[in-house]
Amino acid sequence: MIERTSATMTPTIGVLALQGDVREHLAALEASGARGIGVRRVSELDAVDGLVIPGGESTTMSRLLTVFELLEPLRARLRDGMPAYGSCAGMILLAGEVLDTRPDAQCLSGIDITVRRNAFGRQVDSFEEDLDFAGIEGAPMRAVFIRAPWVERVGPGVEVLATVPEGPAAGRVVAVREGNVLATSFHPEVTGDRRVHQLFVDMVREVAVARA
Ligand code: GLN
Repeated sequence: MIERTSATMTPTIGVLALQGDVREHLAALEASGARGIGVRRVSELDAVDGLVIPGGESTTMSRLLTVFELLEPLRARLRDGMPAYGSCAGMILLAGEVLDTRPDAQCLSGIDITVRRNAFGRQVDSFEEDLDFAGIEGAPMRAVFIRAPWVERVGPGVEVLATVPEGPAAGRVVAVREGNVLATSFHPEVTGDRRVHQLFVDMVREVAVARA
């Protein structure tokens, strides 16, 4: 009998593929020991052990989630404990409350945080920073921010994993985790540093093995 241990099992992880930088996440997941698939329909969502919601434009993705009839099925899977990771627009979608968004934008309430959209301001649309990331070993992580949100409130069960180290936004929260849901303001898929994806693959594998 072949034992499916947590070290060897290959989880299937979806990347929400309605809009945004889907391909880069799929490549990073494959490089981190998962099987990656694009998710555009409910049957694909049903087939995954975990889901990445990529960066892009949160209000557009919110509208497309409704058009593709994925909004309620996705909320249901999150309620059921499916692991999820949101980067940038994905963090905005996973939040419980969003400031500075369109009044009709939907959120998934997968993690008890309040985020402010486009928080770093229009003049500094995009920037890079080296961050310490709690629970991730090794050198500081190069973080790329592109019209990024920050986290303004964290609920009691939310762990803060990274903050901006210096400059005008020093101390702002940019990476969080609550249970099986992970979110970053920045885009680890563009740097070639796989440590955030590796952390998420490990989270998904643990849940999948426990449920097998
Ligand atoms: N500003 C975008 C939004 O509101 C997020 C940008 C990104 O994902 N790079 O959705």
